[in-house]
Amino acid sequence: MTNTATDISVVIPIYNEEALLGELYQRLSDSVSKVSDNYELIFVNDGSKDGSISEIKNLASRDEKVFYINFSKNFGHQIAVTAGLNHSRGKTTVIIDGDLQDPPELIPELYAKYKEGYNVVYAKRRKRKGESAFKLLTAKLFYRILRKMTSTDIPVDTGDYRLIDRKVLEAVKAMPEHNKFLRGQIAWVGYKQTFVLYDRDGRKAGKTGYPVSKMLRFAMDGITGFSDRPLIFVSRMGILMSGVSFLIILYALFSYFFLEKTITGWTSIIISTMFIGGIQLISIGVIGEYISRMNKNILNRPLYIIDETNCKETDS
Ligand code: UDP
Ligand code: MG
Repeated sequence: MTNTATDISVVIPIYNEEALLGELYQRLSDSVSKVSDNYELIFVNDGSKDGSISEIKNLASRDEKVFYINFSKNFGHQIAVTAGLNHSRGKTTVIIDGDLQDPPELIPELYAKYKEGYNVVYAKRRKRKGESAFKLLTAKLFYRILRKMTSTDIPVDTGDYRLIDRKVLEAVKAMPEHNKFLRGQIAWVGYKQTFVLYDRDGRKAGKTGYPVSKMLRFAMDGITGFSDRPLIFVSRMGILMSGVSFLIILYALFSYFFLEKTITGWTSIIISTMFIGGIQLISIGVIGEYISRMNKNILNRPLYIIDETNCKETDS
């Protein structure tokens, strides 16, 4: 059973953050120790290509509160966080990015809200520095569209930086899906949720581990995991197109039998064929997105493979 003598566990996914680890560790320790001395820092090394893991092991050899989970390869940010959650022993768990975009100094504030009786306290960005206009715009659009598409109240302008209590943690651990969208899953769980506002900094060093391709996949994970609207849209589109083509058929027959002229034209044929072809491909693509995720879940491979860890408990 989970030992809950630990007050706070901090889960930090790490992908090529070597240059920041020293400062990250220092600022996290300073901040968390203001709340409690019973804490643990769980660094999950997600197949970094730099020296992150030796830096983390170095920290672990000096400080018994530091734990590491070293993946066998890069499994992705959400999976790294999931592994950390699976090994967390705290009464509360904080999820925080390892690039210092999420200021560790906010943790006492998150914890204070938990003490007021909230089960989830997420950090909501007031401002977001050091991000490209493209990222800001796409993120803003995406979260607003997602909100419209789902009945789960997924908060806008938040990342994964948040504090969750044991009840929420256990609920999230019980969700078996392979395509994780943790901010949605945590919202879906319910309980009492609140937020604190903060200004998000730019990345301190290194570069983003989320190029556009990963961002897109993550966005699709969010949509497919929390909404059936694209599928409903596809079938409505089908009904609409059938209706339109029925009318065109009527018109063509009428014109042939009563007006005694056939409708000529390469243009109308090519336009309608291309148009319907396009809609069909998009529809198949939409269905495919859902099927590929179903496939992943049916294969049911382990979410991640741990090369080595000094965590005491390994329930995954
Ligand atoms: N990260 C990870 N695996 C990845 C990509 C990123 O563990 O494949 C970590 C990264 O080290 C950071 C956090 O996830 O702690 C957020 O990633 P990043 O800062 O690159 O994303 P952005 O803030 O640009 O969206
Ligand atoms: Mg970042």
